[in-house]
Amino acid sequence: MEFEVWSGAALGGVIGLLIGSFLNVVIYRLPKMMERQWAAELAQLEAEKQGTESPTGTQEPFNLMTPRSRCPGCGHAVQWYENVPVLSYLFLRGRCSACKTRISVRYPLVELLTGALFFFCIYRWGVTPAGFAWCGFSAALVALAFIDWDTTLLPDDITLPLLWAGLLSAAFQWTAVPLHASVVGAAAGYLSLWLVYWGFKLATGKEGMGYGDFKLFAALGAWFGWQALVPIILMSSIIGAIIGIAMKIFSSLREGGYIPFGPFLVGAGLTAMVFGPNAILNTVLSALGL
Ligand SMILES: [Zn+2]
Repeated sequence: MEFEVWSGAALGGVIGLLIGSFLNVVIYRLPKMMERQWAAELAQLEAEKQGTESPTGTQEPFNLMTPRSRCPGCGHAVQWYENVPVLSYLFLRGRCSACKTRISVRYPLVELLTGALFFFCIYRWGVTPAGFAWCGFSAALVALAFIDWDTTLLPDDITLPLLWAGLLSAAFQWTAVPLHASVVGAAAGYLSLWLVYWGFKLATGKEGMGYGDFKLFAALGAWFGWQALVPIILMSSIIGAIIGIAMKIFSSLREGGYIPFGPFLVGAGLTAMVFGPNAILNTVLSALGL
């Protein structure tokens, strides 16, 4: 039995490394695909206004599959043996094989993180629908965190399926959340941040979050139930404050000082998956001496 648990988890970890490699592509390309889409729609609108023929799509295909990955430095096409998760990075010593441009250490880190999360999910829930569901949850959260950090976008293409998957997982009892708690969690998650957003906007005239944050929080409500919403928002605020202060100390705040909230929601969501949503609140309360 013990051997089966570990071998299943190890296999899950290896698949996680491969999925992590794919997530690197998603993180890099999905925002660019969205920008292209917007540009195309704008051009279309503009053409309609002018009464001219809409521009025909002569753009090269650009999606998650094509074109194949290239070195941004020299255009060297990445070969399959240079694309093995983590190992290729170590073997190439973090540099392009053709021009020796540095490859970001983030690529192997995303692969390792996804591998570790998949390992955990299969170890914890076994080779079951629940295990697969939580693997999917982890992969979506990893992609969202890095895309939001890079671009301050949380694509609907990820947040909305994540929300539906959470509701369905509750309906099929893959998560230990009753369906009504999941549905209420999704609605309450969205509404609560929506209210905070408008309250903040009316009070200060500024926008503190985006609609993507509401959708992500709604998805977390669907996966963990409404009871987990307060612990999760507490945890993400704490993670956000710590990272914000650290960035201030190391004076690495980005232009405008804006830090997206999505990565902290993701941090709290993954913590809730690993330790349980109430473990978070208990830790916070005991840290405060309550
Ligand atoms: Zn190169």
